[in-house]
Amino acid sequence: AQTIRLLGSGQVITSVYSVVKELVENSFDAGCTSIDIKLEGYGLEKIEICDNGHGIKIQDIPYVAKRHYTSKLVTAEDMQSLETYGFRGEALASLCSVSQVTIATKTAEDEVCHIYDVDSEGNIKGKKPSCLGTGTTVTARNLFFNLPVRKQFYYGSQRKKEDLKKIEDLLIVYGIIRPQMRISLRHDRDLVWQKIQTSDTKGAIQSALSRQVFSQLICVEKSMEEQQGSVCAYIPKPGSDVKLMSRSTADRTLIVVNERPVHIKELLKVLKQYYCNCHGCDTSRFPICYVHVKLPTADVDVNVDPNKTTVFLKHLIEVRTFLEELLLKIYGPLDNVPS
Ligand code: ADP
Ligand code: MG
Repeated sequence: AQTIRLLGSGQVITSVYSVVKELVENSFDAGCTSIDIKLEGYGLEKIEICDNGHGIKIQDIPYVAKRHYTSKLVTAEDMQSLETYGFRGEALASLCSVSQVTIATKTAEDEVCHIYDVDSEGNIKGKKPSCLGTGTTVTARNLFFNLPVRKQFYYGSQRKKEDLKKIEDLLIVYGIIRPQMRISLRHDRDLVWQKIQTSDTKGAIQSALSRQVFSQLICVEKSMEEQQGSVCAYIPKPGSDVKLMSRSTADRTLIVVNERPVHIKELLKVLKQYYCNCHGCDTSRFPICYVHVKLPTADVDVNVDPNKTTVFLKHLIEVRTFLEELLLKIYGPLDNVPS
């Protein structure tokens, strides 16, 4: 009960993007090496996420879609050093209340896979065998069918296309964080994006972003002795093609802290400043890059609101200074230091 109170109850499912994010994170938590995401009608008609993870045990099935059920047991202390993504036990329950959900799952011990129909309260309504292998496939149909205003508000116009882009960006960064993971994203009949299984970050960037982009990046790796951390950054080579290597938004300026994609505006700002200064482009351009900061988990506080990826770093100033020094070596000093 203590844990439940700590967790509070947020609105987890607010868009197709948030559904995909929650389900993909469940798949990661299940230790999968392959995920296939299929959307129909921008995900409003159907969202299907198929993984080859450990599956759900038969005895857990009645509870998985119940509010506050989680198999990822946590204590108040564990919340400091979250190793898994889940722990709120809200995603599946919330999803069931705003769409028609089926869960197909098989563990290594089960002889066959079963597909379960789940009702809006998270109760299992029916069960039938299927031919799928070990792993879990969650399907959500008719998202927001019972919330026509939300459906209209989010998906009346451009928003559904933006969400598809955001999903691709999320998968790109997750795919780079996990080189071994195979991921594909399909919309209607199109393959939107995919990443193959690779053995290292280098291969993962080539597959997730393209060989062409990778060829323009240099890698710098350095440890931060005092903070017991390190920074590994793939950033555009000085003199790289600005058209190819920068964007007017930060959607490919990938910043990761301890395996989690995060938004840290102080770091985005220095990346932009040094890149733009060196390349003589206007300061609205963000470089395409991948910056992975590793820090002791006790010094990182991830805001677990599912739609934000805010993070508080105990040593933010030191990390920023460290990154600045790295960028200074590569791109040279800033011409006119802004206040
Ligand atoms: P949480 O991830 O916070 O535990 P969710 O509502 O997202 O809560 O999922 C509830 C539970 O359902 C999980 O704790 C897990 O036991 C099970 N589950 C969900 N998705 C998967 C999956 N893809 N593979 C295996 N188990 C899953
Ligand atoms: Mg979850």
